[in-house]
Amino acid sequence: MKHFLGERAAGIAPYVAGEQPADRRYVKLNTNENPYPPSPEAVKALRGFAAETLNRYPQPCSDRLREAIARAEGVAPENVFCSNGSDETLFLCFAAFFDRTAPVCFAELTYSFYAVYAAFFGVESVTVPLCEGYRIDLDAMRNTPCKGYFIANPNAPTGVGIPRAAFEQFLKAVPDRLVIADEAYMDFYGESLASVAAKYDNLLVVKTFSKSYSLAGIRCGYALGSSALIEGLNRVKDCMNSYPVDSVCAAVCAAAIADGAYREKTARQVCGERDRVRAELLKLGFTVPESGANFLFAGKGKIAGGALYARLKENGVLVRHWDTPALCDFCRITVGTPTENDFLLKTIKTILG
Ligand code: PMP
Repeated sequence: MKHFLGERAAGIAPYVAGEQPADRRYVKLNTNENPYPPSPEAVKALRGFAAETLNRYPQPCSDRLREAIARAEGVAPENVFCSNGSDETLFLCFAAFFDRTAPVCFAELTYSFYAVYAAFFGVESVTVPLCEGYRIDLDAMRNTPCKGYFIANPNAPTGVGIPRAAFEQFLKAVPDRLVIADEAYMDFYGESLASVAAKYDNLLVVKTFSKSYSLAGIRCGYALGSSALIEGLNRVKDCMNSYPVDSVCAAVCAAAIADGAYREKTARQVCGERDRVRAELLKLGFTVPESGANFLFAGKGKIAGGALYARLKENGVLVRHWDTPALCDFCRITVGTPTENDFLLKTIKTILG
């Protein structure tokens, strides 16, 4: 049989998304979703959506949603770009700003999609090992020749955050390099650069509705930056999909972002539980870096990472494990509701005997 796969698709190792199994009900702590439902305002917007208007295309640049985001983030609408999930924004950042002429730099242990995108676009990637405390080594990154950086803050899968002052110092030290700050988990940390994104020529802040807004199912993300950078993203968007954000999604996300009080309340609950679960895991002998995200990176305990993952799954708890040399000792555990977290901890205690 003839194989039609192109050279690029054939040669790449795609990103592997977390399991979404349908075989049974799990306490699902494997994909960093928010355990709470979306804002009642978002639910109301969905219920009230005028479905009969779906014969029309949505706004190409999601103007109403951009205005709602701009209002919430304290920037101007021309500093906002919207997409179908922040993964899409990250993909478009590669398409717009990186090519074969200069490398991109990111941490050795970080969101694994960066390496996939770099490979997809044929961009050379240079990785920098984490330093003590699983921190991203900004000094080493600064001294690494490259066109720009992808920095998840807080980082995934470690959860370790970079304080705003240190991040700004880094930005000022690399004025001729583009810094993509992936703030997917920032609302659980509170050191965002969103409101100053447009003041730096070399900064794009990428955010998502999937985590703190409890809207992973709707697929929406956005970037904040100078109008020149936003223009760059629009150029490549219009080479790919003129209408990436559908009308239903735009209406729901605009309502969600306007309800900042609900996001803050649920994020506070998640952070409280995160710190409680971390303290319990430390007591059980696990190494768990302090997390600024809605998940914990737990490992090097009395049980190997792969075995813990498998035993938890048998007992109805799903966490994330990667069978690679750097990660195999660890599991990444999303913070759930208090009941889910209690069940997780009870199950781990039983497994450890
Ligand atoms: N960045 C990081 C660091 C993530 O962990 C994720 C979620 N997998 C994303 C971006 C993408 O999120 P989404 O596409 O749901 O907006």
